[in-house]
Amino acid sequence: MSKVLIIGAGGVGRVVASKCADNPEVFSEIMLASRTLSKCQTIAREVGKGRIQTAQVNADNVPEVVELINRFKPELVINVALPYQDLPIMDACLETGVNYLDTANYEPKDEAKFEYKWQWAYHDKFKEKGIMAVLGCGFDPGVTSIYTAYAAKHHFDELHYLDIVDCNGGDHGKAFATNFNPEINIREITQKGKYWENGKWIETEPHEIKKELNYPEIGTRDSYLIFHEELESLVKNYPTLKRARFWMTFGQEYLTHLRVIQNIGMARIDPVKYKGVDVIPLEFLKYVLPDPGKLGEHYVGETSIGCRIKGIKDGKEKTYYVWNNCSHQKAYKETGTQAVSYTTGVPAMLGAMMVLTKKWNGKGVFNVEEFDPDPFMEKIGEFGLPWQEAANVDLEL
Ligand code: NDP
Repeated sequence: MSKVLIIGAGGVGRVVASKCADNPEVFSEIMLASRTLSKCQTIAREVGKGRIQTAQVNADNVPEVVELINRFKPELVINVALPYQDLPIMDACLETGVNYLDTANYEPKDEAKFEYKWQWAYHDKFKEKGIMAVLGCGFDPGVTSIYTAYAAKHHFDELHYLDIVDCNGGDHGKAFATNFNPEINIREITQKGKYWENGKWIETEPHEIKKELNYPEIGTRDSYLIFHEELESLVKNYPTLKRARFWMTFGQEYLTHLRVIQNIGMARIDPVKYKGVDVIPLEFLKYVLPDPGKLGEHYVGETSIGCRIKGIKDGKEKTYYVWNNCSHQKAYKETGTQAVSYTTGVPAMLGAMMVLTKKWNGKGVFNVEEFDPDPFMEKIGEFGLPWQEAANVDLEL
């Protein structure tokens, strides 16, 4: 029986809140706090089952978060606000001695460069305080990292090649929309590509490398090599990896819109003066694009995300594919939001459950692949994200 504080009331926050409310035996009291109180209240009313308290907080402001934590006294803070808030929320957790969990690594606002170094630097401070921080417990990073840990534990003696494949085979009926926070999403996918090979990072131009990959129940989709944050921790934690890459599907229409957005300067993250006021074009764009949390109603189709791995077992080469397919409609019927928010929020809730029930233990800062994957893999299907696996199949990569 534990109290949990959820910060962030977007699409992902809605799913985390809904799932925590479904499990009172672990989450005995739930507080949902965010910058805009009315968004917390809507979520509490629509999916809270009468079990969610709400509060307003600006999570960029450490004393405000500290005050809220001291008032509510949670055992764990689940951070599903934006990556910019990771460090202030971690600072507040340190000051109050409360555990921390998030789904995306920190990036500074003025530079679109996400890396774990800022959060890993908190390891000793968390350890000394006797608390834990769980980093990257959404789907990717999150479940993909746990799939890799599961494969390493049960299917391989050595991992050699890892390809994380992320397909959104759904259609939301809009000309252009992002599936999670537009500002964060566009910063991520307009960056240069990067992958790990033979002990070093290789950089590519954005979307330079493309392959047609076949996804279960969806079919063949153009898949582009991009950099994704879990690669950084996985190559550190699995040093036998000779190569690690991340692939994401994009349709031609999506890429055309993205190119136009960049060409006309709307992806800029430096301020421009508009009528005497500093405006950051990408921040402004977020307010004219569809709200990702509201795409669910007309979204059809499925996501399919998984890990395709080659390595050695008992002296022989082996291939292994582990994945989940998630239906946008099913996610919407259950929580009122689409599969991208759903596939992020469910693992965040389950990761929180792992911490609170002491299935995941430790003092310091950890990426999820550092914990035992088994209790998580046993439960994730029951909470809505069942996984499938196939050994010795053609991985296409
Ligand atoms: P949204 O933009 O829908 O929601 C973000 C929420 O955070 C909003 O409620 C917003 O408030 C709130 N917020 C922003 N700034 C502050 C602040 N300073 N203080 C308090 N609250 C704040 O994003 P999503 O729900 O789509 O995504 C949430 C997180 O999940 C992101 O970090 C994203 O990167 C991550 N993610 C991770 C994935 C994974 O698989 N690991 C996949 C998808 C997303 P307001 O409404 O006032 O703006």
